[in-house]
Formats: sequence, C-alpha cells, structure tokens
Amino acid sequence: MNTDMIKMNKEKRIALIAHDNRKQDLVEWARFNKDLLSRHELFATGTTGQILATELDLEIKRFQSGPLGGDQQIGAKITEGDLDFVIFFWDPLEPQPHDVDVKALLRIAVVYNIPIACNRASADFMISSHLMSEEYQRLVIDYKHRLRRVEGETKS
Ligand code: PGA
Repeated sequence: MNTDMIKMNKEKRIALIAHDNRKQDLVEWARFNKDLLSRHELFATGTTGQILATELDLEIKRFQSGPLGGDQQIGAKITEGDLDFVIFFWDPLEPQPHDVDVKALLRIAVVYNIPIACNRASADFMISSHLMSEEYQRLVIDYKHRLRRVEGETKS
C-alpha cells in the first residue's frame, strides 16, 4: 500500500462547523475549551464562525456559510493540505439543503485521514489528546493506484 506522510504542526489548523440545531452545543463546547482552542488556528463556516467569534471573542477565519459552499471550501482546504482537524456538529434529525456537501466533506476527511469529530464526546476525546500539543505525521493512503487510468497514461 502506497502512503504519504503529512506533517501536522503543534499548532493545528482546526475547522469548526455546526448545523443550526447544533450551534448552541458547539458554542458551549468551544467556551469550555476556549484556552486550548486559542492556541490553534481556527476556521469556520460563515454563521458558525460569526457566532463563535462574537460569543467567545476568538479569532476565526470564516468561509462561506455552509449552504452557500462553506463545507466545500473546507473540503478543498483539506485536499490542499491547509487544514488538520475538523469539529463538525451536524444535525442527525434534520435534512439540510446542502446534504450532498456534508457527505462530500465527511468523505474527503476520510480520504485524507483528517481527525473529525461529529459529536461532543468525540470532540472531547480528540481535543484532550496529548497529540494536540505535539507534531504528528498523518498517514495518507495514496489511492491513485486504485483509480482507473486514462488509456495511454503511464503508471507513475
Ligand atoms: P453555517 O454553516 O456555519 O454558515 O451555518 C454550517 C453548515 O450548515 O454547514
């Protein structure tokens, strides 16, 4: 199996996302972990980022709102190696207009072996890991060999 290593620095680049019915939970979780979060570089989808920045006075870089492409922007950042970590409190009871984007983001996080917490307990376990304050070599499977090659393309 071919693999690549991607280095995660001590300061992690963390994306925070919450669907509307889960935003309050994320705010409470982030308030509880504010000291730790402030040691990392924070990103968020539009509305989530606005609420977190206002309520917690944290510096957060904001993407578009989720339904307007924010989840896709986060997925693109993952593929470019610009994000290390995702906290995504998605709503298990309510369909979203951008459900396909949510699925795409979850999938791309798996492809790139990104730690992703989809509920509060997972977020608690992840953020309390000693790896949060250490460098980490993230193993990424090179799936290219499993993709169909275009006729005439030589094997790399
Ligand atoms: P929002 O997007 O932070 O702009 O509400 C979150 C989402 O629905 O993915």
